[in-house]
Amino acid sequence: METYVGIDLGGTKLLIGEIDSHGNILKYKKYDSGYFNQQAALEIIKSSLDDYIRTVGWVDKQPLGMGVGLIGRVDPNKGIWLQIDPGRTEPIALAKELSDIYGMPCHIDNDVKSATRAERVWGFGQIYRNFIYLNVGTGIAMGCVVNGRQVRGSHFNAGEVGHVRVGVNVGVKCVCGRMDCVEAIASGIGMDRCARLLSPNYETNLHIPTDKGERVLISEVFSLSQKGDPLCVALVENASEALANLIMNLVRMSDPDTVVLGGGIVSDGYIHDKILEKLHPTTMRFVTNGVVITKLNPGFIGLLGAGAVAMNM
Ligand SMILES: [Zn+2]
Repeated sequence: METYVGIDLGGTKLLIGEIDSHGNILKYKKYDSGYFNQQAALEIIKSSLDDYIRTVGWVDKQPLGMGVGLIGRVDPNKGIWLQIDPGRTEPIALAKELSDIYGMPCHIDNDVKSATRAERVWGFGQIYRNFIYLNVGTGIAMGCVVNGRQVRGSHFNAGEVGHVRVGVNVGVKCVCGRMDCVEAIASGIGMDRCARLLSPNYETNLHIPTDKGERVLISEVFSLSQKGDPLCVALVENASEALANLIMNLVRMSDPDTVVLGGGIVSDGYIHDKILEKLHPTTMRFVTNGVVITKLNPGFIGLLGAGAVAMNM
């Protein structure tokens, strides 16, 4: 049986799995992955993969290749992980390192661009050649597929659309330095920051953690919003308007048939409905397949993406 290894490295978790050429996940295992720089991330990948080989093992013979999805800027052609963010830039030839150690070809890519590959190969991309995959999770970014090809840009930085302003003014500062970027309003981190900023102005039953590193629970924001909690209603209203405006701006740019949403903030459907209410029919008239949640399992699209990277698809 021909299989591939996928490695989906997020900020807090690492998922390793073996995938067949049809996009079926045959086996997988989840690991913790707290890391602060690229060298530490490489050590976590190696120790986790060694554990995977020892405790789970390959389904059949040695897989044909390995793919890794990573946070930040990645050169998939040279196999170099360029940076996590502008403050953490230590380019590392990750594909060669892993290929040399494990004796199989290795390819790497950014995590959202990897998920977009999975959507292109096994999801809506099977039907449509022009689509946007918009990931709304801890952060916000997109993969843009035009005529069946993903847009990369000059510096592998195309699709970082979390850092555009969309006419929603909260007065929240974004990590990039600008005010009111969509990521600062509608991502997991953004909703946490907005909750802290706006909580003096609204009554709320939302638990806002004081411990460093802990964030408000988005599931709690959604359930309280449904009960009319004033702060949570405002957070959801701001986030859904910001996302609807972002989507309509993106539609004007690349004229897609489909806008596919993925990531932890949109996968449960609540905010998806709120976004749909705010889309203007004239702007959306050619988006024939609409704004939909990914066809692929949202919890595993990163791993499937890493599998598509392994296959170099
Ligand atoms: Zn920003």
